Amino acid sequence: MHCRNIKEFFDEPMEKTGDDGKVRKCRSCKPCQCKKVPQFLVNEMSTLCHHLEAKHAGEYQTWVVEDNFESKLPGDVKDQKVKDAQLSQTQLDSHLQKMPPAEHVVPYSDKVFHEAAIEWLIVTDQPISALEHLDFIKMINIAAQATNGMKTPVHDEIIRLFKNQIDLLRQKLLSDTVKGNINLTC
Ligand SMILES: [Zn+2]
Repeated sequence: MHCRNIKEFFDEPMEKTGDDGKVRKCRSCKPCQCKKVPQFLVNEMSTLCHHLEAKHAGEYQTWVVEDNFESKLPGDVKDQKVKDAQLSQTQLDSHLQKMPPAEHVVPYSDKVFHEAAIEWLIVTDQPISALEHLDFIKMINIAAQATNGMKTPVHDEIIRLFKNQIDLLRQKLLSDTVKGNINLTC
């Protein structure tokens, strides 16, 4: 509990000798003093909080509202935790709703993969060796790591990557590592 909270409702701590003869630091409750029923409570947060909640919940709540102070009473803290949990769940729900629905992903099986690969060979007129090409295997291995479907590169992206490769090739050809004359016909 915040010390401002304590100072509002309790006097400064003083040493009191208990029934068992032990000396403890205690605080006197101000509202109880006003009611002429002084209460000395052991100066521990939990004890002081429980006293406020049990005896002065109404006054405490009024003060909390007037002072714009976040209640630290055990019951209120519990309520707040429930509210916070509900709020974060609501935020989580709305966040999840904002996510685009995952496209339908066909579960992997060797049969499905082989059929798709053969279909791709035929439709795109690839040589059979394309399936054994290291770059093809690399691409498949990368795609295999996808957990929620994947996007194939769009036209613009392919053109951009292709141009990058051409630029790299051009720089290589223009550098000193290449000796002699090269004629490009494209
Ligand atoms: Zn009291």
